[in-house]
Amino acid sequence: MSIKTANPSNIKDAAEIILSGGLVAMPTETVYGLAANALDGKAVAKIFAAKGRPQINPLIIHVYNAAQAERYVVMDERSRRFADHFWPGPMTLILDKREDCAVSDLVSAGLPTIGVRCPAHHVAQDLLMVCDVPLAAPSANASGTLSPTAPMHVAQSLGDKVDMILAGGSSDVGLESTIIDARGAVPLILRPGSITPEDIESAFGVKAEFGFTNPDAPTSPGQLLKHYAPNADMRLNAVDLQDDEALLAFGSIKFMGLTSGGFVKDLPNERVMNLSESGDLYEAASNLFAYLRQLDDSGFKRIAVMNIPDTGLGIAINDRLKRAAHK
Ligand code: AMP
Ligand code: MG
Repeated sequence: MSIKTANPSNIKDAAEIILSGGLVAMPTETVYGLAANALDGKAVAKIFAAKGRPQINPLIIHVYNAAQAERYVVMDERSRRFADHFWPGPMTLILDKREDCAVSDLVSAGLPTIGVRCPAHHVAQDLLMVCDVPLAAPSANASGTLSPTAPMHVAQSLGDKVDMILAGGSSDVGLESTIIDARGAVPLILRPGSITPEDIESAFGVKAEFGFTNPDAPTSPGQLLKHYAPNADMRLNAVDLQDDEALLAFGSIKFMGLTSGGFVKDLPNERVMNLSESGDLYEAASNLFAYLRQLDDSGFKRIAVMNIPDTGLGIAINDRLKRAAHK
């Protein structure tokens, strides 16, 4: 495995690796993706093997624009409006496979649909253009663990299982894409992300509904309840801090106390990481996985997490936190 700066010459090398069946970690605005040629079943199988990912869990394919997507999937009228409005960007659309679809069946885990996204990161865009094949790319980490938002996270999690890591800075958004099934009259959000129901309503004047499994009250299998998890245990909605805990804070910690006496604000920095002191949900999302990772490495038995408002982007952050805390 080699970590390479994402310049044109290295992007060309990365494309060669992909077109000869290898795996490349690429930066995107959501998280780093583990990319393989989606048309090459053997290459796609390597993704599942490298991540230790159950094959029932379908992959998302990445394209450089909607026209490229249409070589493989059907863009109905409603989905096209979503693509026109939100692509390139952190939104995955669930679309019907075309009859002559050349994408490997492994990608969609046997479903008649494929999740498709056009990423906004210029490196991902360049790589897609040079390859000119759709790239299957889940997050570039071992299955079930924290998603990578920086090249080093990929190296630590996957090591030599990836042929090349294209380094393109930290991921801006920091959370996986919003997954939407826009084919029906009511858009269904299958995974919350940084594109919120409010964004959809203000774009089209229609209310989206949530169709994902609530980790608190699972009703259907298929969406993994334990996911995005650190090694340490997690305690959500903490209002104080116990002796064996590190703290993932949000907003002011001025008045937060330790159960054994004293104040959190007097603790060393490595035990307390604040997602956003000003309470900005976008800043919090972009810091989430990296800070969880750092606290996980701090040696504390448990990570306490302060309450994060369950509105707008907070819904997606809380979804990830609940799955991370699920036992
Ligand atoms: P990731 O792990 O970020 O690659 O996201 C993949 C997730 O996308 C899967 O776990 C599914 O929840 C969802 N997904 C992918 N393809 C489909 C599909 N065809 N239908 C429904 N959900 C899908
Ligand atoms: Mg993932």
